[in-house]
Amino acid sequence: MSQPQPLIRILPPQLANQIAAGEVVERPASVVKELIENSLDAGANQIQIDIEKGGSQLIRIRDNGCGIGKQDLTLALARHATSKISTLEDLEAILSLGFRGEALASISSVSRLTLTSRPEYQAEAWQAYAQGREMEVEIQPASHPIGTTIEVANLFFNTPARRKFLRTDKTEFAHIDEVVRRIALAKPNVTFVLTHNEKKVRHYKAVEDRSLEQQQKRVATICGDEFIQQATHIDWQHDDLHLYGWVGSPTLARPQNDVSYSYVNGRMMRDKTINHAIRQAYGDLLPKETYPAFVLFLDIDPSYVDVNVHPAKHEVRFHQGRLVHDFIYQGVLNALQAQPHLPLSESEL
Ligand code: ADP
Ligand code: MG
Repeated sequence: MSQPQPLIRILPPQLANQIAAGEVVERPASVVKELIENSLDAGANQIQIDIEKGGSQLIRIRDNGCGIGKQDLTLALARHATSKISTLEDLEAILSLGFRGEALASISSVSRLTLTSRPEYQAEAWQAYAQGREMEVEIQPASHPIGTTIEVANLFFNTPARRKFLRTDKTEFAHIDEVVRRIALAKPNVTFVLTHNEKKVRHYKAVEDRSLEQQQKRVATICGDEFIQQATHIDWQHDDLHLYGWVGSPTLARPQNDVSYSYVNGRMMRDKTINHAIRQAYGDLLPKETYPAFVLFLDIDPSYVDVNVHPAKHEVRFHQGRLVHDFIYQGVLNALQAQPHLPLSESEL
């Protein structure tokens, strides 16, 4: 009997990348998130985001970060290629937003991607171009100030099933707008400009200093004056845990609250532990079926939290969930009790 042919094969890199892209690149807003995070990791303090047709035609992100050298341009687009970690220990101490080395490979496998960059040590800029299908990267000289521009054109042009799931330009842009808001809220020292079809839609100017007053400015711009007027500032610390931000008065509670932002080590999260602790702190103060308004940042030793739970990094896992929960609960409770218009708690009567 002849030996049967093997049935198992290793997928070509292009297909493997497209499959991985399914997890990271859900829609144009996910591309925008990944690219802005890269700009922030590169130390940029000016990020320009240009969108055409809800991002399906063009997403262009330009930053003044550290740039990518010519020798690294092709590698930047390869899968599992990253400058941010090299060992498991690095991952456990991670402070950068990226580390999976996947975003650019995934995005370039489902779009026409151009990466132009110039680091300070290079006199001229270089440009890499990758177009979905073959994944062959071409490199040529270009002109660009120090920093990086990434252009993502015709997203999902070669994955029609994905393209079909795109909503109207208006809806896709609304998602992008929200992603930019979330990130801008956490990075008041960075200027963000967002345009849609060549019209300037947002301009979040970097704050002048790290004073509370300046920080509040960015929050007020994004969450509205009403929020900041009816919110209490919180700054709560215990051992390695630090919780700060703003807790809205119960009068700001809504059935679907637009202002509910929580971050872990600068990363936007929707985390059950955090949400539960916050809700519990509000307790009966919240009218039924409503959610509180808050902007809260939790800083925690990165070794106490696993950020590698989902490719898009929407979730974290705390090693000591109970401890984190109780810490947040206490912090928010204290802030709420400090709000002048609230009834005193039983222990104070
Ligand atoms: P990750 O962010 O997980 O490392 P990416 O695929 O998003 O993976 O990016 C790959 C690499 O390309 C990064 O590790 C970084 O070295 C480089 N890079 C990407 N975007 C930028 C940028 N805007 N500025 C400087 N370097 C960048
Ligand atoms: Mg990245």
